[in-house]
Amino acid sequence: MITVSKQPFDPGPAAWNEILPSAMPYPKLDGDIRADFLVIGGGFAGLSTARRLKQLQPDAAICVVEARRIAEGPAGRNSGFMIDLPHNLASKDYAGDAARDRSQTALNREAIAFAAAAAEEYAMPQEAFSPSGKINAAATERGVTHNQDYAQHLASMGEAHELLDATAMRAISGSDYYLGGLFTPGTAMLQPALYVRGLGEGLAASGVLFFENTPVTSLNREGTAWRAATPTGNISAGAVILCVNGHAESFGFFKRRLMHIYLYASMTRALTAEEAAALGGERRWGFTPADPLGTTVRRISGTGGERIVVRNRFTWAPGRSVDAQRLRPVAHVHDRSFSARFPCLAGVEMAYRWGGLLCLSLNTAPAFGELEPGLFSACCQNGLGTAAGTLSGKLIAEQICGHESASLSAMQSFPAPKRLPPEPFASIGANATMRWGEMRAGKEL
Ligand SMILES: Cc1cc2nc3c(=O)[nH]c(=O)nc-3n(C[C@H](O)[C@H](O)[C@H](O)COP(=O)(O)OP(=O)(O)OC[C@H]3O[C@@H](n4cnc5c(N)ncnc54)[C@H](O)[C@@H]3O)c2cc1C
Repeated sequence: MITVSKQPFDPGPAAWNEILPSAMPYPKLDGDIRADFLVIGGGFAGLSTARRLKQLQPDAAICVVEARRIAEGPAGRNSGFMIDLPHNLASKDYAGDAARDRSQTALNREAIAFAAAAAEEYAMPQEAFSPSGKINAAATERGVTHNQDYAQHLASMGEAHELLDATAMRAISGSDYYLGGLFTPGTAMLQPALYVRGLGEGLAASGVLFFENTPVTSLNREGTAWRAATPTGNISAGAVILCVNGHAESFGFFKRRLMHIYLYASMTRALTAEEAAALGGERRWGFTPADPLGTTVRRISGTGGERIVVRNRFTWAPGRSVDAQRLRPVAHVHDRSFSARFPCLAGVEMAYRWGGLLCLSLNTAPAFGELEPGLFSACCQNGLGTAAGTLSGKLIAEQICGHESASLSAMQSFPAPKRLPPEPFASIGANATMRWGEMRAGKEL
């Protein structure tokens, strides 16, 4: 018997979801049902698992349960960069070992192609999934140097990229904050809530059963099947797939091997036409920071109007929870980052502020594979879950269905997530690394 020790919690609203018209709810489980496959978690990994299972076994009964509503969890709270290239958050400029980066890039592209096919099949609007590339923005000379180093790394990998100067960055963003940028074309930019909702709707239309507001509280082995208990009913399934990212640890797996971190973002109210005109620049762009601990900024233009989204600050959360009050000091940093970049938008306030939990491992390994007979994991996306979650969901479905591929072998050859140092050393080390990194990021924050 596996008792789930913690249910998911993320502070503040899932803004990307809030700015969309409200979605028709899926039902809450009511009573006992049977399925061939039970997917726990309705984020990138869970929905991609369900999609790939449906492709490989069209007649199977597939069920997805989500503790909250689809797009209310981290899948609807991220910045929407589905990145193809190496993006090692622990490196000064995102680059890592060249051979590993090449194979990671191929895997990320497989995920992006899988997401692109879903977006096309389910006729999602371009706002949901747009293969428009991204820019690594540098606000300091140090950032410019990071970009140059990273550009060299990309050149050695044979990857297309373009260095931009301050004038080009101003023409794109309307801001003269940036000294330079590095454009790479392979990132897909998501309206993450629109994308995951679209994926859910497409799957539901093809017969996948969805239950929202249905947290799994325990798992029990019953012969060759598993029974998942929820507050309002039970689901028996031949195979269960955990797609709960760091909450794999709440199910009792990968204990002291996963690093749980909250990330925070704020989104402005919709700009007026005058404010948008005063800002100038292009209507849609996405900047990741040249320093991994700096500020991610997006300008979006779509269903919820024209807005700016900023994302920065990391907090360590070994217990997978955070006090909602934590948003207050973070808000101050967001406001500072926003006003430094956009002084001409001085009167524009933030409409939404939120945080979301993500999961990393010390050796950037996923928590992937069969945990016990019939119980599988597609967890620990190492921060980049839009691509990594999509990939691990796709590949775990292939493993379950015996569909062999080079990508699955690559995924299976990762070592297990490395054990963390004992407490209090892990917490002291993680907090010191993040605070020092944020201080060093300087104007990049
Ligand atoms: C502010 C912010 C910015 C980010 N920016 C980016 C970005 O630009 N690009 C990128 O690639 N990544 C980004 N991320 C990370 C990304 O959001 C995650 O890595 C990704 O959502 C992980 O996908 P997943 O499907 O594995 O897990 P999740 O999206 O976390 O989905 C897991 C789901 O499982 C559900 N669940 C958990 N326990 C249970 C239970 N007991 N019963 C039922 N359901 C359960 C949760 O409610 C959740 O919805 C960002 C995250 C944040 C917070």
